[in-house]
Amino acid sequence: MKIKSIICMLICLCVLSGCGGNTEQTAASNPVSSSTSSRRTTTSKSVSSSTSSRRIESATTESSATTTVAEAPTTSSQPQCSHIWQDATCTEPRTCILCNQTTGKALGHSYSGKYCVRCGASNPNYEETIEVYYLSLDQYSETIYIGNQISLTYSIYPDNATNKKVTWSSSDSSVATVDQSGVVTGISAGEAKITVKSENGKTADCKITVKEDIAAKSSLSVPSCPKTINYYSYSGSIYSTTRVTDISYKFEETYNGEVNLLIYFSGEKTYDSQGSGQSSSCKIGYKLYDADNYVIADGTAYTTSVKVGEKYKDKEEIIYFLKPGAYRLEILHVN
Ligand SMILES: [Zn+2]
Ligand SMILES: [Zn+2]
Repeated sequence: MKIKSIICMLICLCVLSGCGGNTEQTAASNPVSSSTSSRRTTTSKSVSSSTSSRRIESATTESSATTTVAEAPTTSSQPQCSHIWQDATCTEPRTCILCNQTTGKALGHSYSGKYCVRCGASNPNYEETIEVYYLSLDQYSETIYIGNQISLTYSIYPDNATNKKVTWSSSDSSVATVDQSGVVTGISAGEAKITVKSENGKTADCKITVKEDIAAKSSLSVPSCPKTINYYSYSGSIYSTTRVTDISYKFEETYNGEVNLLIYFSGEKTYDSQGSGQSSSCKIGYKLYDADNYVIADGTAYTTSVKVGEKYKDKEEIIYFLKPGAYRLEILHVN
């Protein structure tokens, strides 16, 4: 009983409100609908509102297209367009928004760096600047003598940096100078810092110690060669003979400001009492005199073991810890 009456009431409500009335309300509330649409909806009430609005759109498009074509011939006879100009842009000239007529030229892009400052377009000619990130020198510290030069070499990272220019400078050019190729010259004893700097401010430096060349302040006079030197036995007979063909030398500075003298003897054995097939060292006696003719050192150089007719080369003798100065070498027979 109750269910039946409820169904009855629902049917009654439906009849009273009316389904057709609902459809009309929807059409009226649709903001897109126009007089055309309402006409259409009245003629065909079953059409849903969404379908009708789509149809309206297509109808409107058709009609506007037709209007443009229809008005075209009448434009020439009408007064000219009262242009409303839109400013020129990078890519478009000044253009009337009503008739699309143009005047002048497009501005063209105004690039600043990577982009156009007006429109933001990318600059096709823009090249990224690669900054110097790090600078290094091949030497951290170096010692040179007054008047001598060394060449410093720098490296730039990354090596494709855009600006690879550098400048060189010395912290004390009375001690050491540097040219713009990195060539350092010792001027006086002391220390100076040589710096290489990139244009974006990266630096690398090398400590340069400049010293006086003590070894260069020493000299040695050697006997003229060739010279024949005998090695006598205890009985006074000649044991062996060598012909010294060359004497060379160099001074080396020691840690304490003295010099070591290195002497090199070259020559050949010319006689051996044991027979020419015997092999033994040749012996060369020497004395070293200072500038005042005092004997500073003496000794015997033992060459490598050679047979008669064989040569020896650069037999080294070292005389240690001499004061820098002028010396004279004498070579002697050996007893
Ligand atoms: Zn216009
Ligand atoms: Zn632009």
